[in-house]
Amino acid sequence: MPYVFLQTFGCQMNVADSNDVAERLFTHGFQTIGDPGKADLIIVNTCSVREHAERRARVRIAEFCRMKKPGAQLWVIGCMAERLGERLMKDIPGVDRVIGARSLGRIDEITARAFPGQHADFTGIETTGEASDFISIMRGCNNYCSYCIVPYVRGPESSIPAATIIDAVRKKAGQGVREVTLLGQNVNSYCDAGIDFPDLIREVAAVEGIKRIRFTTSHPKDCCEKLIRTIADEPKCCRHIHLPVQSGSDRVLSLMNRRYSAADYRDRIMMIRSLLPKADITTDFLVGFPSETDADFEATLALVEEVRFTGAFMFAYSVREGTVAANFVDTVADAIKRRRLKMLIDRQTAITKEKYSAMVGRKVQLMIRGRQLKRDRLWMARDYGCKRALIACDDVQAGTILQAEVVRTSGMTIICERTAP
Ligand code: SF4
Repeated sequence: MPYVFLQTFGCQMNVADSNDVAERLFTHGFQTIGDPGKADLIIVNTCSVREHAERRARVRIAEFCRMKKPGAQLWVIGCMAERLGERLMKDIPGVDRVIGARSLGRIDEITARAFPGQHADFTGIETTGEASDFISIMRGCNNYCSYCIVPYVRGPESSIPAATIIDAVRKKAGQGVREVTLLGQNVNSYCDAGIDFPDLIREVAAVEGIKRIRFTTSHPKDCCEKLIRTIADEPKCCRHIHLPVQSGSDRVLSLMNRRYSAADYRDRIMMIRSLLPKADITTDFLVGFPSETDADFEATLALVEEVRFTGAFMFAYSVREGTVAANFVDTVADAIKRRRLKMLIDRQTAITKEKYSAMVGRKVQLMIRGRQLKRDRLWMARDYGCKRALIACDDVQAGTILQAEVVRTSGMTIICERTAP
């Protein structure tokens, strides 16, 4: 039986793609292994969103090339594979195959050709045993934000048929999955034969065995009232909206081609808070975009103060070859970018800590995700919003939902004690 070692870089879409690839390989008789030196097939699923992500992947790939056993193959898949193609095989000798993000649907055929002795058997697919899993509902993106490489490497937006998604959710529920995260670059524009994203959520919620639904990512321009009302009406939907804003400055948002203003974004926040007052709202920020002034950055800080996000992913802009913004010449000096990023992180982290501290004494509903430390009976969990939790208890397993009280916080984690249901 051949062994596969799979390493994933990048976003949840990549994690979902890796899970799909692993599942396909299981049908070809592969088993996973934790030691790349013993694997018959090493796969690295890559990310192209930032230069840094590509550099890290290249270092890892070169390491794997050195450690792979004689006769083993090394495949590079995903976004960097799409962007650079077979150039990667010249750049890093030892890479045997490059499979771009848009060609992952051909993984069965490629595996059958590369490992001809391995016959596909779709009956006994191995499961991961996880209670929480990702399901891709869309591919690609049509938004062409000026800084982003994704539309070029993942191609135009397309929605996976609702029937295929529901089949996948049913299958996962049968394998013990209790929480699904629906993934797309812009889930709000999901559309399949008249079924929009809120309709899809209702269909997923009707699947027996599924207890919680999450999704990401929402584009603010498409985040509509129907979606928020659906979440409010559907108890299986977690109270968490990730709504990337990127900047608080209208001028920068326009240069980014985000197609909303800071006022539009504030309106969305007000709508969410009026319908889902307890929801966690998180976001993404990109600071140091070409020509960003002190005044633009102040507008971002003002938005942070006003919205008081539960959390944020914050990055300094780095140029991606092939995007529109790569042609913008008025760049911001690295030292200024670093200073602004630090100021933003400091302020948002303080707000996040205040929000977490305010949870002490509150009742929360947790879903157990997995064991933390056997000796201490500690389990990792997630609340009904986006917060990570730790709880000590017996007689639970991944997927158990229980009531608890927050007794203290530790960094970005709430520490809870179980209460009566
Ligand atoms: S919405 Fe914008 S940032 Fe997100 S994937 Fe599409 S182009 Fe990139």
